[in-house]
Amino acid sequence: MPATPDAPGSDLDTRGEWTCPGISPHPVRAASGRRALDWEASPPGPYRVLEHTCACRAVYFELIACGGTYMIHKVIQGRPAEHAFAGRWTHREARETWLRLLTGQAR
Ligand SMILES: [Zn+2]
Repeated sequence: MPATPDAPGSDLDTRGEWTCPGISPHPVRAASGRRALDWEASPPGPYRVLEHTCACRAVYFELIACGGTYMIHKVIQGRPAEHAFAGRWTHREARETWLRLLTGQAR
């Protein structure tokens, strides 16, 4: 019998609920000397998602634009999911913090 192509979710190493599409970045483990962000429970208003990390992880992050400022939205997946927001930065500051988050220098 010929081998069948991998069906989605057939990989035994996959721990999430679906196979990682491998498109969005996965933040590296936070470094010990990382900058601690100030997290708050809710955003100041409606927001728009600019970037996001891969949702195959239990915790994923979004870079968001919210009322003229920029923030990072943290989502801890679960039932119910937990949300936290940090920032109110300028676009430039937010991009810099986003990069730090991805490289484990801020969390
Ligand atoms: Zn992934």
